[in-house]
This record gives sequence, C-alpha cells and structure tokens, in this order.
Amino acid sequence: MTNEAEMQSNFIYQMILKDVEAGKHGGRVHTRFPPEPNGYLHIGHAKAALLNYNLARQFDGKFNLRFDDTNPIAEEEEYVESIIEDLRWLGVDWEDRLFFTSDYFETKFAFAKRLIEAGQAYVCDLSPDEIREYRGTLTEPGTPSPFRDRSVDENLALFERMQKGEFPDGARVLRAKIDMTSGNLNLRDPVLYRILHAEHHRTGDAWCIYPMYDFDHPFTDALEGITHSLCSIEYSDHRPLYDWVVENAVKLMPDVVKARSEQTEFARLNMSHMVLSKRKLRRLVEEGHVSGWDDPRMPTISGLRRRGVTPDAIADFQDRVGVARADSLVDLRMFLFSIRNDLEATALRKMVVLEPLKVVITNWPEGEVEWVELENIPRDESAGMRTAPFSGEVYIEREDFMEDPPKKFHRLSPGDEIRLKGAYAIHCHDVIKDDEGNVVELHCTYDPKTRSGNDTSGRKIRGVAHWVSAPHAVEVDVRLYDTLFVEQDPETVGEDLRDVLNPESLMTLTRVPAEPSISALTPGSRVQFMRKGYFFLDPEEDHGDGLIFNRIVPLKDTWAKIKKKQSQ
Ligand code: ATP
Ligand code: MG
Repeated sequence: MTNEAEMQSNFIYQMILKDVEAGKHGGRVHTRFPPEPNGYLHIGHAKAALLNYNLARQFDGKFNLRFDDTNPIAEEEEYVESIIEDLRWLGVDWEDRLFFTSDYFETKFAFAKRLIEAGQAYVCDLSPDEIREYRGTLTEPGTPSPFRDRSVDENLALFERMQKGEFPDGARVLRAKIDMTSGNLNLRDPVLYRILHAEHHRTGDAWCIYPMYDFDHPFTDALEGITHSLCSIEYSDHRPLYDWVVENAVKLMPDVVKARSEQTEFARLNMSHMVLSKRKLRRLVEEGHVSGWDDPRMPTISGLRRRGVTPDAIADFQDRVGVARADSLVDLRMFLFSIRNDLEATALRKMVVLEPLKVVITNWPEGEVEWVELENIPRDESAGMRTAPFSGEVYIEREDFMEDPPKKFHRLSPGDEIRLKGAYAIHCHDVIKDDEGNVVELHCTYDPKTRSGNDTSGRKIRGVAHWVSAPHAVEVDVRLYDTLFVEQDPETVGEDLRDVLNPESLMTLTRVPAEPSISALTPGSRVQFMRKGYFFLDPEEDHGDGLIFNRIVPLKDTWAKIKKKQSQ
C-alpha cells in the first residue's frame, strides 16, 4: 500500500501543500490523468496516474480521468476500454468524473473564435513545410507568416469555412499570434487547429477540424477546474504556451473556465531492459514479437496483470522510486524486489520440479506411501499445513545433483547425502547413465533415522532439496520469462528494436511434475514454487489439458547475489 511518508516527501506534494496553505485556487486541489487512447497503458503511465490520484486523495481533492482524444487517426475504442480496466485494477478512482477532451469540442471552437476576435489567432495558408521553414531555429528568429495580419472578419470567415469542411486536409490552419522572435520555438505562432477529414471514435464525422494538444490540453484543464496539471519533463518547454492558453481562457471565456490551471513537470519513469513508449510497444505487438499488448513480458499494465504482478507491488515500486525532477533509468531489479516483497508473506508454497531427475530409493518398502507434512507458508502458523505423498520414486531438480562437485556443493553427489524437504535424507550410491553418458537416474538409499521433525541420526545434513513423488506427480506447464531486451537501455537504440530483442525471453516447460495439492489451486492463485520463484495460475488460460503457470519473478536475481558478495 502507498506509504504516506514517502509520498509526502516528494516535491510536488510540498508544492501543493504550500498552495493550499496560501489559499491558492481557493485552497482546492484537483488533478487529472490524461491518457491518449492510442495504445495500452504501461508502468510509466501507472506512475503518472497513481501520482495524480494519490495527491488528490491526500489533499481531499478531486481526480479526473480524461481521455485526450484530439487525434482521430490513432485513437480507438479498444484502447479506451483497456485503459479504464487497467486503471480500475490499479485502484485509481475517478468517481463520476470520466471525461473525453472531445466532449468539449464545441466550447473549444467557441474559444478559438474569441481568440480570433481578440486578435490573438489567425488563419494561415502556409503548408506544414512552409510553416516549419518560417519558424526559424533555436539560433535564428522566425519570419512572420504573410497571412499574419488578416483582418478579424476574414479570419473568422475562413475559420468557419474550415469547420464546415470547405477545405482539404492541410490547406489551412489556425495559429496563435504570439511572438515569431521568441527564444521558445513553441511560442512562434503555434498551430491551434488543423483540418483533418477523419472519423473520430466518439464524435464521428461531426468535425473536420481538430484542436492541437498544446491548445487543447491547457484549455481543458481550465474548463475542468484542474488546479495542478502534472506532466512529464518533455513538456517543460511547452509551459509558457500552456500559461498563454490558460490566461486567454480566463480572460476570454470567464463564463466557463473554472481554474487558472498550472503545469508542473516530473521525471518520467524509465526502466532498464524495457521500452516505455506506446509507439514502440505497438510495434512489438504488430510485428508479432509478443503475443499481444497483454503478453506477460510486456511492461503494460495488462501484461503485468497476466504475469501475476499485483497492484500493491506496482504501488510499492512507485513509492520506492519516488518523484524526481530529473529523468533517470530505474533498475528493473528494483521492481522485481517489490514484487517478491509483496508475495513473500502470502504465497502458498508448492513443490514443483522444473528439470526433473528421477531418484529410485532402493531400500524403500515396496509399494509404501508415506504422507509428510509441509508448511504452507514458513513462519506463518495460521496458514496451516499440507501433506504430500512420499514414495520409493521421486523427482529432484537436475541441478541438485552433480557427479563431480566442486567443494562446498551442499547438494547431492555420489557417496553424499541431501535432505528431501519435510521427508528423509537420501544417500546416492549409483548413477545410471544412457549410452551417451547422460545421467538419467540416481539410485539412493534413505535413512529412516533422518525423518524431518524427528531426526535421531545426529548428523548435520546441509542441503535441502524440493522433490515430487513420481507416481503421484501432477503434470503442469510452466512459462519462464526473461527481459524482452538484452540491452540495458533499449530506449536509446532507435526505432528498430529487433537486434536487441532477447531470443530467450520466453521458455516453456511442458508437463513438469508437481505435488498433488497443486490441483486444488483456483485460477488467479499466486504461489511460490519452492526455490524457483513466484508463479501465477493465469486465469485467462484454458487449463483443461493441465494447469499453466506463469513465473512472475524468480526468487533471486544476480543483483541480489552481487550485493551479498559485496557485503561479505
Ligand atoms: P508514450 O510515450 O508511451 O506514448 P505518452 O506521453 O504519449 O506516452 P499519454 O497517453 O499522452 O502517453 O500519457 C498520459 C500521461 O502519462 C501523460 O501525462 C504523460 O506525461 C504520462 N506518462 C507517459 N509516459 C510516462 C512515463 N514513462 N513516466 C511517467 N509518466 C508518463
Ligand atoms: Mg502524450
């Protein structure tokens, strides 16, 4: 859950606190999350959504969900639905304040006309390329458009004809009349409206002119009464234009404007081995490198959900990352830490052998089965116990045996012994190999004096292995995931990510042996396979032919090992 102390330490919280104390915006706090419905939400969006939502909550304020749907070409209803589902799942609550920026197209059109009347906007006939040329560069001032001094009447008439659909796409635009010599390129008469004869997912063909983001966003904030408009750092240079729009809205549309909204920027979330850009994620989906937006390897909310990550783990991670003023790259392993932390105390333990090696216990009484007791969750008595059958044939992990072990290998090797969790110690006396010399079976003896909980052998047995009784094994399928990219910072690679894709990001193990109690799990359960990680029984899969588990996260990563080494 959100850690209040952590939240209050962030600079935006402190800023809002000052505003409230000073009575700015009448002491109100009203935030919003403005996704563009052109893709699925990713964990970076979760950061923005949770930040806005939690700030509103902390100040007893309001929070709006507003779809930023000014671009009819890229936007689709599918994305609207997925974004709503993902935000609900994250626990974000906008009560009855679900809005679409297209809801206010009429008001925006009216505002644009008032800007024209006030001499603050004009219709420009330059082509997009010409507009770019006239704009100048960072070192050279721009050149005024030859259409800059059109009369108010002519501008109004042309703008209305634009709206009526009399001109083709790109023929004319409406521009703000600000300052062609400004050091900030965004203020050199930015485009406010463009002509686009395209079907909009909500307004259909009612409009053929659409407002630009830099005009639309601040005005919508002001209309909705948003006091604090938080956005990522790339919008810093747009802030003077944001203020220009809000100032004019307050002046020219006092009847409908509810706040003198202010923009504040915070650092985007960037994570190692991930891309957080809808455009690039869409490409992964469209080129078939993943099975869809909800592929469990994707950093999308729907992908994380299918993988088995909980909303609490995401919130905990966001708290740990905090809110900064400057961008940085967050180590993925920090996220994995939050995921483990969240599951450790609650996930039932199960024994599943991912790479089985058969062990025949040569002195076990023929046909006998002994049910041993195992803790469901270590150190949590309230979670109770379960039983598992033990017999004369068990599977252990291949990696728990080595024929020729190095020193300090506390697992099984010829002539040595290991404890089978909750059962007995076994001693290896024979190694059976196939014609190619591969180990295919071990022959061991068990020592009745080593029964778990009642060990009278007096020996110290170091290693403990998980196991599954072969005749009782339930076979399950398991999907193991690694990062999608081998590159530490794939965002810097460019558009084509094929070369840095990890060819081993998905490994499927079929029909591996699991202890019988696994059959009682219901889809959606999260469990720990002892020593192998946390796994999710994916509720969206058909488990008719056997259970299918996604590995949420392994128990350890190399980072943990390195840390341990360093502290030794
Ligand atoms: P993308 O680059 O993934 O397409 P976007 O900014 O274009 O993202 P929007 O739908 O416009 O996508 O984003 C909605 C909100 O989420 C914006 O306020 C944006 O600042 C914020 N946001 C997007 N990506 C991140 C991120 N990585 N970290 C934090 N906030 C983000
Ligand atoms: Mg955007």
